Amino acid sequence: MLLRLPESVSEAQECIAEGAVPVGGATLIWAGWQRDGFPERAMSLRNVPEANVIASGALGAAVVLSRIDERVPEVLHHAAAGVGTGAVRRTATVGGNLVGSTLRCLLPAALVLNARGIVLDRDRVFETDLAEVVAKHHLLLSLHWREPLVSGYRKLSGEAGGAPPLAVAAAVHAHDDGLDRLHVAVRDGYEVLTDDVPCHAGGGAGADRAINALGDTSLGTLHTAAWDAVREHVIQLLARPVSR
Ligand SMILES: Cc1cc2nc3c(=O)[nH]c(=O)nc-3n(C[C@H](O)[C@H](O)[C@H](O)COP(=O)(O)OP(=O)(O)OC[C@H]3O[C@@H](n4cnc5c(N)ncnc54)[C@H](O)[C@@H]3O)c2cc1C
Repeated sequence: MLLRLPESVSEAQECIAEGAVPVGGATLIWAGWQRDGFPERAMSLRNVPEANVIASGALGAAVVLSRIDERVPEVLHHAAAGVGTGAVRRTATVGGNLVGSTLRCLLPAALVLNARGIVLDRDRVFETDLAEVVAKHHLLLSLHWREPLVSGYRKLSGEAGGAPPLAVAAAVHAHDDGLDRLHVAVRDGYEVLTDDVPCHAGGGAGADRAINALGDTSLGTLHTAAWDAVREHVIQLLARPVSR
């Protein structure tokens, strides 16, 4: 197997044209290759600058999870910190987690940020929503979002070998019309549900109204334990002070 390490977007596109298989940290794909055979060519985006960015509003797909810190919103930082073991986090990448894994702890966090994916294919670079990135297994270059007023993440503890633990992500975004909007995403089993409702961030006023509104969305179909976790998370988030 030839591992290509392109240093620019155009070099990465040449690798795609040659049929190179994308690889992140190989924490998942390696076992598959050992079982089914190695591809002729693979490609890592680790030397492409755009895939390594960590900044306000941007995160590269080749960034390893252990490098994700306070430069990104709390919801994303804490989601990354909760993935697997330290050894996994030091190797696994954002792209491998969002596009290539089944657990996708980063997905609820990215959804509540309204993050968009920048995607590479052999002859264009384009922006699209995460649902499409995941469904079509696009080659993800980076994520981009507008900073929220406040955000938070909670993953319940799970049993080894059992169902994936429930994960709740939430973020409040300010809108130009002066109204805030609460976005909540829940990973329940391998399903991710997400929805958003009007709210008022800071101080907790109106939290009950926002929770009632959430109950009328797809999240209202959650089982009791999941709904209780959402409710508690939203109450705590909306009570936190925000600076506008
Ligand atoms: C012990 C253990 C515990 C784990 N616990 C958790 C957990 O708690 N939560 C969780 O979410 N995950 C968990 N995982 C999964 C972990 O997040 C994945 O192993 C990891 O995200 C895969 O990342 P990687 O960079 O190693 O991908 P790789 O193994 O390199 O690739 C996996 C797939 O992603 C594709 N891929 C890689 N980069 C990109 C890209 N930029 N664009 C598109 N496709 C790409 C590859 O082609 C491949 O199909 C665990 C894994 C292990 C081994």
